[in-house]
Amino acid sequence: MGQQVRGVVAREKGAPVTLETIVVPDPGPGEAVVAVQACGVCHTDMHYREGGINDDFPFLLGHEAAGVVESVGPDVTDLAAGDFVVLNWRAVCGECRACRRGRPWYCFATHNATQKMTLDDGTPLSPALGIGAFAEKTLVAAGQCTKVDPSARPEAVGLLGCGVMAGLGAAMFTGQVGLGDSVAVFGCGGVGCAAVAGSKLAGAATIIAVDLDPGKLELATSFGATHTVDASAGDPVEAIRALTGGNGADVCIEAVGHPAVMEQAFMARDLAGTLVQVGVPTPDMRIDLPMIEFFGRGGALKPSWYGDCLPSRDFPMLVDLYLDGRLDLDRFVSETIGIDQVEAAFARIQRGEVLRSVVVI
Ligand SMILES: [Zn+2]
Ligand SMILES: [Zn+2]
Repeated sequence: MGQQVRGVVAREKGAPVTLETIVVPDPGPGEAVVAVQACGVCHTDMHYREGGINDDFPFLLGHEAAGVVESVGPDVTDLAAGDFVVLNWRAVCGECRACRRGRPWYCFATHNATQKMTLDDGTPLSPALGIGAFAEKTLVAAGQCTKVDPSARPEAVGLLGCGVMAGLGAAMFTGQVGLGDSVAVFGCGGVGCAAVAGSKLAGAATIIAVDLDPGKLELATSFGATHTVDASAGDPVEAIRALTGGNGADVCIEAVGHPAVMEQAFMARDLAGTLVQVGVPTPDMRIDLPMIEFFGRGGALKPSWYGDCLPSRDFPMLVDLYLDGRLDLDRFVSETIGIDQVEAAFARIQRGEVLRSVVVI
């Protein structure tokens, strides 16, 4: 059984993605089939295509999506056909050691669909981040579907499924930005701009955006940055100190994934400040910090996966803030494109031209 739909597939390392006929099985126990309405194009999709995540080709790409539940497995009770959902890659298990300790946002055994979607010749597909949403329909674990207010625009709220949530959460949850704090955000792409927006929501008084690209600094300002630092014009650490009474920022968020930038973020903190690492490094990268500075400055260095979010708690809340006009998710949507234009969107990501291209299905 199952149904045939179109999906964007990376068949082999480095090759351009292609639009293929894929087979989506009917949902089994614990699963749901979702008719995708919109899905953002993320760096991670490109990394899959380049073989930078693993070698489990072919991949069904796409993972920042919103859509409508079409059908659910026989035992699924908290989700029904017709529900409007944002897909997530943190369907918590409730049973692992992190979940049992009351920290489900660290869940070490998140759920994905059990059955495999396939090419029409039966070749199993590896869905990106267990989602695979550059497709008319996709099969996921029911827990990967988070119900949100159906009046929201799918192109905008689907972005909560990955990059925008990572940035918002890096500030709000990992960095614990609080009222009156000073924050510096290094790198103002989609994730960095979301970190700026999250810092503003959390009540930060000073939000310093750091980038090499004046266009991105302008975007960061539109999300709530109070100051900008062009890192090509001088030492950003000194610039951040000058903007914070000579002290440094309470929270520095690294949203690039580069050792030199991480070092700047480390040094630009106030005493007892927090460094949040949300930019994704590559396996070859190393950091070399003076241990006396690590010890002497105090504070915390914290990696942030998916913004330490708990989708069931955070997506509905953030969608409500969006609908209330307090979180401008629409501004992240640089353009909407067709499902056959993903490869072109990758090129625009690489040139740094867009926050998010969003496939509308
Ligand atoms: Zn768990
Ligand atoms: Zn992503």
